[in-house]
Amino acid sequence: MANIAVFPGSFDPFTIGHESIVKRAIPVFDKIVIAIGKNTTKQSFFTLENRLKMISDVFINESKVSVETYTGLTVDFCKNINSKYILRGLRNSTDFEYERSIALMNNLMHTEIETVFLLTQSEHTPVSSTIVREILKFDGDVSRFIPQNINIKNYL
Ligand code: ADP
Repeated sequence: MANIAVFPGSFDPFTIGHESIVKRAIPVFDKIVIAIGKNTTKQSFFTLENRLKMISDVFINESKVSVETYTGLTVDFCKNINSKYILRGLRNSTDFEYERSIALMNNLMHTEIETVFLLTQSEHTPVSSTIVREILKFDGDVSRFIPQNINIKNYL
């Protein structure tokens, strides 16, 4: 059976940190589904459609990677698509504490699902979607923090 990993997140927007995690996970899994969670309570900066488009463009030539959106629990989405692995990136100890709780809770809900963590490459540690959004709000240049083939102006 194919090893399918789900990389869930809000990706608002997708950054070079996210891109690096996916690229480094490609040799490990048969398929990676980047899953954009629809947040029902929080207003996003980029629309769901635009996030789907910008991420799909990044991996257009990568047959192992697909992009989907989902609502509800990540573990339920994993079950629906026969995935046993959740992929997450770890930047620092704050990420670790938060991710550990979520991974343990997910595993309690669905024991067959494991979360696999990749450490962020050091140069990507300070990169976050939140800071990219702040820079955009003040009209700053974010091109070095997002994948090369995303032209963010097309999505604003
Ligand atoms: P969420 O809203 O679920 O935290 P994000 O879009 O912020 O979603 O992040 C999705 C995943 O990408 C998380 O595992 C997060 O730790 C990871 N991530 C975020 N920024 C980076 C980065 N700069 N380098 C590597 N991984 C990152």
